[in-house]
Amino acid sequence: MSEELIQTLASWPRERILDGVQRATLDEVDAALAKEERTPRDLLALFSPAAVARLEPMAREAQRLTRQHFGRTIGLYAPLYLSNICGADCVYCGYAVRSRNRERRLNLTPEQIRRECEALAAHGYQSVLLLTGEAPKAAPLDYIAEGVRIAREYFPSVAIEVYSLDYDDYKRLCAQGLDGVTIYMETYDREVYQRVHLLGDKRDYEYRLGAIERAGHAGVRRLSIGALLGLTDWRVDGFYLALHALYLQRVCWKSAVSVSFPRLLHVPERFQVPEMVSDREMVQLMLALRLVLPEAGFNLSTREAPGLRDRLIPLGVTMMSAGSSTRPGGYQTYGDETLEQFAIEDNRSPAEIAEVIRAQGYDPVWKDFDQAFDRAVSG
Ligand code: SF4
Repeated sequence: MSEELIQTLASWPRERILDGVQRATLDEVDAALAKEERTPRDLLALFSPAAVARLEPMAREAQRLTRQHFGRTIGLYAPLYLSNICGADCVYCGYAVRSRNRERRLNLTPEQIRRECEALAAHGYQSVLLLTGEAPKAAPLDYIAEGVRIAREYFPSVAIEVYSLDYDDYKRLCAQGLDGVTIYMETYDREVYQRVHLLGDKRDYEYRLGAIERAGHAGVRRLSIGALLGLTDWRVDGFYLALHALYLQRVCWKSAVSVSFPRLLHVPERFQVPEMVSDREMVQLMLALRLVLPEAGFNLSTREAPGLRDRLIPLGVTMMSAGSSTRPGGYQTYGDETLEQFAIEDNRSPAEIAEVIRAQGYDPVWKDFDQAFDRAVSG
């Protein structure tokens, strides 16, 4: 794990970020908007209360940059939960070991993984994200590798969102055909991090922080990071997220880096969202990040409601999940019998979402949306 990233994050304590945000003036917002290339300091202005008066020009600039770097395409993918067994205790999550949820917990068998893959492939998907909880004993590396191997028979593009792994583990999964890894830091604020992660290896902040970089060095071509919005002030985690993405773009330059904006909306009974993020704040966050990270992919999941998702399409989104189930076997094998991780807001079918994307003048892309990037780095 690079000391450089730790030092960079440490050089921006949350008070410094919030102070910079509060002090920013409209002139500084306009100066940030007028620049060709922006720095993290510009982000403070773009996150500020003053910038609320400039959301329209920020939206225009975000749209321009997104079209310049990604054209008019939106990649579609679906999550496929291999397992809902988890030994960690993240207080905001329905899979947490102490969440008291009584619905079924299981690993899909290889035959069931095939059945789920067939159901998704029949919708036209060519890109899938395989997920497990943090259960290295119940869902060990061998099991994940088998899942990747099977999924590759159906999809040209297979990514995972599982617990943090070692460099050699990622290398092994790449040999099975893995091309993407998603790991959300959830929150970059160490104190909040320790407060919401009560049990399991995930409590090791630095091991988790370094995982995505290990994946990149091991040859994973698509790296996706994110902060779980609502755990702390959105401007604090948004700022750290940008620092992390900029760092990865530099040290893992052979990989495409993307960011996600999972927002806490539905949480288990025992937990209350400490810093609820409004739609307007979510929009400001995305626009500001697009202005500082013009080349990063932006993922938007079905956690968000259809109306907001549709409005965000032209403002910087490059990938969307669609027709999602957040439980193992949810597409074909078990219906709604198994425990889900969280409720989704956008229940429209993949075909309906593709239609909405087309209606806004964009092309839904079912295939490997980073092909152009891959050609550029290997060519
Ligand atoms: S967030 Fe992940 S590691 Fe934490 S309880 Fe949920 S599934 Fe387990």
